[in-house]
Amino acid sequence: MHEYAVTESMLEIIQAEAVKAGASHVGEVTVVLGELSSFVDESIEFYFSELSRGTIAEGARLVFQKVEARADCSQCGESFRPRQIFYSCPRCGSPAVELIEGQEMYIDSIDVETGAGAGDGIGAGTGTGAGGDSS
Ligand SMILES: [Zn+2]
Repeated sequence: MHEYAVTESMLEIIQAEAVKAGASHVGEVTVVLGELSSFVDESIEFYFSELSRGTIAEGARLVFQKVEARADCSQCGESFRPRQIFYSCPRCGSPAVELIEGQEMYIDSIDVETGAGAGDGIGAGTGTGAGGDSS
């Protein structure tokens, strides 16, 4: 359920970036998601399609880039891939382990379409009406 809030702020970022880029449409958004983050990609996708309706990001495709978790033990130096948030070192059993990656969740890139060159020529010369010469 907390995906709602995170998707909402994600959408804000996407919209801001799209406006900054002068985009007419958002194509693809790459989201980096650690395997131990508490976010579920399907939920984010669901809320995104709901929240983006009527915005510039409507119809954008979310691409999730999964990141494997990695932790280092500060006791024996073992580097391993933890399977859950709470864990201890599989080699020495020490709880003094530090999660290096696997809990991240951020937007990596946003592909926008600016619609420039799409052929609807803005600025095609509509001749300004000749001013009445009345003197
Ligand atoms: Zn250890």
